[in-house]
Amino acid sequence: MSRLNETHDPALTSWVASANLAGQDFTIQNLPFGVFRRAGSNEAFRGGVAIGDEIVDLAALAATGVIGGEAAAVLAAGTGPTLNELMALGQPAWSALRLALSRALRTGSPLADVVHACLVSQAAAEFAVPARIGDYTDFYTSIHHATSVGKLFRPDNPLLPNYKWVPIGYHGRASSIGVSGQAFARPLGQTMPPGAERPNFGPSQRLDYELELGIFIGAGNALGSRIAIDDAESHVFGLCLLNDWSARDLQAWEYQPLGPFLAKNFATTISPWIVTLEALAPYRTEWTRPAEDPQPLPYLESATLRREGAFDIQIEAWLQTAKMREAGEASTRLSHSSFRHSYWTVSQMVTHHTVNGCGLMPGDLLGSGTESGPTPEEAGSLLELTVGGKQSLTLPNGETRRFLEDGDTVILRGACEKPGAARVGFGEVAGRVLPAQP
Ligand code: CA
Repeated sequence: MSRLNETHDPALTSWVASANLAGQDFTIQNLPFGVFRRAGSNEAFRGGVAIGDEIVDLAALAATGVIGGEAAAVLAAGTGPTLNELMALGQPAWSALRLALSRALRTGSPLADVVHACLVSQAAAEFAVPARIGDYTDFYTSIHHATSVGKLFRPDNPLLPNYKWVPIGYHGRASSIGVSGQAFARPLGQTMPPGAERPNFGPSQRLDYELELGIFIGAGNALGSRIAIDDAESHVFGLCLLNDWSARDLQAWEYQPLGPFLAKNFATTISPWIVTLEALAPYRTEWTRPAEDPQPLPYLESATLRREGAFDIQIEAWLQTAKMREAGEASTRLSHSSFRHSYWTVSQMVTHHTVNGCGLMPGDLLGSGTESGPTPEEAGSLLELTVGGKQSLTLPNGETRRFLEDGDTVILRGACEKPGAARVGFGEVAGRVLPAQP
């Protein structure tokens, strides 16, 4: 059964001219969801869909009454200050709204004049975290990241024996999740210098980013129930970019025995746009596990997963220092990789999360974990790129970095592109490190 439908047709164009430009993330085949208002206004935040350089204001569109049928009720659920109500409706509902929006935004649509009046320029908008996130879990699904970080923390025992059997994760903190543009003070905490007998207290000296994808849960599951592997993706509303800021010196001292705590919970930044799994359908790819590795337990295994359970999403990390910004210099790319290298898939994360009866709720957020690829250049954190801070990176302007400095802005980008399909992009997520609070 093909997952492709008329909304994926690469020949489709939009009457929003910017949507048709080469390199555009927000094509008519994408149609990602977010929450916005006009910047600096007192307007209510409400749902929007990106098209080219514009946003379709879902509240304004609902008020016109031009979207009828099944999609009308779905559209109404997307007009509030968070997308939880829309997320709770489930995959067939999201698909009905996507089809209606695709038809309304196509070149030649009879609704063009009405919908044109519902557009807000992205450049004139400000964004909010798109859902009320009740719970946030961060996974650890790149074996390349787990192995290289493991080598730094435990040279004799880099990959723990459970890694190839269990999609490892920890419960994170929802209160410090911010949308792109988030700026936060360098965290303070305890660190234990090598050879010392008692810890220091002060600002982290080894602040880092992590290049991840976020997974927004749509329809949840009742407490005590499990989500089967072939049903897992129908519970996923879509994916965003996620930067899991990490204080490595705090992490090294606190992480045993219960895992990350204050090293991770001071800030997590996500992109404003959520790209639906339906939009990503052309970029599905087979999921494989090396023959010499243990194959998944039956609850994490399926033929559909093997055939098309992975997504080929190109992801990149960029840096702009304060000095670069003052000189008007563009950001520089630190690394690039693909989500297809992930050891565990979106569906395996969702299924594993609920296999003990844990209930997921609409708007819950899962992080994929740092998506480092197989080569050193594909590393998704400074910890890996600088080999634990031992090798400094030289930037184009001559500055060097081992870890992040005050004033640094980290930008993550993601996009899917291939011959025969329209580009589907994630836009970007930017966040800035401010000096520690005295
Ligand atoms: Ca992480």
